[in-house]
Amino acid sequence: MLDAVQALKEKMVLACKVLQKQGVLDGYGHLSARLPGDRILSTPHMPPGKVALRDLIVIDMQGKKLEGSGEPNGETPMHTSIYKARPDVQCILHYHPDEVIAVSVASQGIKVVANCSVHFHRGTPIYDSPLLIRNHERGDQVAATLGDRNAVLLRGHGGTVVANDLDKLLRLGIDLVRAARIQMMAASLGPAKTHTQAECEEMIKGHDRPNTNRRYIDYYISEVVD
Ligand SMILES: [Zn+2]
Repeated sequence: MLDAVQALKEKMVLACKVLQKQGVLDGYGHLSARLPGDRILSTPHMPPGKVALRDLIVIDMQGKKLEGSGEPNGETPMHTSIYKARPDVQCILHYHPDEVIAVSVASQGIKVVANCSVHFHRGTPIYDSPLLIRNHERGDQVAATLGDRNAVLLRGHGGTVVANDLDKLLRLGIDLVRAARIQMMAASLGPAKTHTQAECEEMIKGHDRPNTNRRYIDYYISEVVD
């Protein structure tokens, strides 16, 4: 079990490096992953892209720190509320990319205008407040807005993506930003054609193949390791 936790820690630090390299992080935002025994591995209160192995902390389901020298993030209640509401969710990324913030203030959220947007074809609900998620009440509201989707936009604030493993989370985290960017580029050219529901469903079937994220993730990892 120790080895599995260590591997998860190393994977989380690598995910932070990839997201930093792709320019989707700023000084804020955070990543977490579920651990056995109602515990959560989390980046601490520091810029997530600068996190090293020694910085990671372990918190409980109330957001109280159990291990590590750093402090929990102010928006930890968003993570604990989502883990409580969604037993299927194994990891969470919360961040503030400009493109995602821009789309969060348009009432429709992400539209599927590109293949990288297909992950979000079931909709990206918008939490309609720019206030930070610093208490359990707001955390529960964000979890309720997310529902059974894989991403929620927070108006004027950022976005949160959830997944059942870190590779998938990394892909969703990068593709949500790409989807938002392409949507804005397409909008500047006039009315945009969106994928049909049937096209989305056909493409999503391919996402269930084993190792479907490997080539995608390995490309981004190769950008941060020798
Ligand atoms: Zn935030």
